[in-house]
Amino acid sequence: MFCPKCGSILLPKKEGSKKALVCSCGYKNTELKDTRINETVKDKGQEVEVIDDPDISTLPKTDAKCDKCGHKTAYYWTMQTRAADEPETKFHKCEKCKHIWRDYN
Ligand SMILES: [Zn+2]
Ligand SMILES: [Zn+2]
Repeated sequence: MFCPKCGSILLPKKEGSKKALVCSCGYKNTELKDTRINETVKDKGQEVEVIDDPDISTLPKTDAKCDKCGHKTAYYWTMQTRAADEPETKFHKCEKCKHIWRDYN
């Protein structure tokens, strides 16, 4: 989307719970209801966590309670996220409802 005032490309911006498109000239479009803004943000690598969904048939299982369905067995794996000097993040995937969550510990 382009700025109707100056023709520059509008940049997606989150303002609280609202989404807006802003331009460097000061123009702001807050009427946005377009979900494509999420893809734009993802492309820029900002604050959107991309969790690869591994092949669960190869994953070990562990005792972990699912927030969504309360099932007590989940698959788990670890993954290097963000900077390489940060510790690996552990992910769980519910055996029953396939909900994925991460373990911050
Ligand atoms: Zn503009
Ligand atoms: Zn579940």
